[in-house]
Amino acid sequence: MKIQSVEAIPLTATFKSTFRFGTTDRTTSPNVVVIIRTDEGVAGYGEACPVPAFTGESQKSIVELVEQRVAPVLIGRDASVRVPLLDAVGKVLKFAPFTLAAVDTALLDLVGRSRNLPVHALLGGAFRDRVEVHGSVGWNEDPAKMVDIAREQAGTYGWLKLYAGRGELGADLDRLQAVRDAVGPETGLFVDVNTMWSPSDLVRALPRVEEIGLSMLEQPLPTACAALQPQLVGARPVDIAADEAVRTVGDAAAVVANRSATVINVGHSKLGGPTAALQAAHIAAASGVGVMVGSVIEMGIATAMGLHLAAALPRLAYPSYLMGPLKYAQQITDQQIDVVDGHVAVPAGPGLGITVDEAELRRLDARTQP
Ligand SMILES: [Mg+2]
Repeated sequence: MKIQSVEAIPLTATFKSTFRFGTTDRTTSPNVVVIIRTDEGVAGYGEACPVPAFTGESQKSIVELVEQRVAPVLIGRDASVRVPLLDAVGKVLKFAPFTLAAVDTALLDLVGRSRNLPVHALLGGAFRDRVEVHGSVGWNEDPAKMVDIAREQAGTYGWLKLYAGRGELGADLDRLQAVRDAVGPETGLFVDVNTMWSPSDLVRALPRVEEIGLSMLEQPLPTACAALQPQLVGARPVDIAADEAVRTVGDAAAVVANRSATVINVGHSKLGGPTAALQAAHIAAASGVGVMVGSVIEMGIATAMGLHLAAALPRLAYPSYLMGPLKYAQQITDQQIDVVDGHVAVPAGPGLGITVDEAELRRLDARTQP
């Protein structure tokens, strides 16, 4: 199982409609697909989705890092020594979590396909064969637009993720109330603030957060003052999830030690790959802190990776953010995300259990676009 080549393909990917969160408006996505091939003709696939709000990596830097730093470390090595190889790659990929995540995923996929084992088996085995997912309603200045999208999604998902922080506090809470009024009490709602509230904002928002029936606030405060979160929330029935505060396995240990959140978001892209995400999840679980599998709304490869990760975690505090491909105008895998009863099946079959459409990758190659 000797690695023969490592390739990075930058994609031209677009969203069906503009997606707003935090201070970001996403209309296109600079994803990069990493393909690692062996001398036996087996290929493993990974996907980087470098969202500027989370990393300084760009589509161009990821391609260069894969070609100039990752490939020389991996070529000629035995792919079955997966974690030591990842460790060696990590030594030349400092502060490039999204690149590392794509390499980690491609190695897992490669080893899984070579051994005829699904990726979740390589992570320790699946606790479930389908994963509950939530919908997401991007921030919009016009609450009626948020209400329309929420109404449409409430038929598909039992839980919706909303966003706040971009607008004035009272107006943002009005938008969230409008969504609650539209979807009724049965739909679970939680809100990602992406670090944009101050401690004072949080204090002022909390009575209405409880009144609107928001189950969880994701990263309401900047990382620097996240330690205040539990005392400000007090005994209110509102979970606090750490997302931006958990960029490394060490960060997860710090959140657990400081008790600054009740849930940790273990999205594998921002954490530098599923191997690190699994470690972060185990640290949280061992300390009684909940975990949820987030994402940065990736295409089919990274989303499949998220489904295998979610399958391999014993308990999930919230539904997972694993319906990203539905927001894209292009698809790079043959399997589509099918949400049934609010759940998505964990792909079956060896590796990630997906068929990557390599012809489509070539067609979407950003280097060949006019
Ligand atoms: Mg978040």
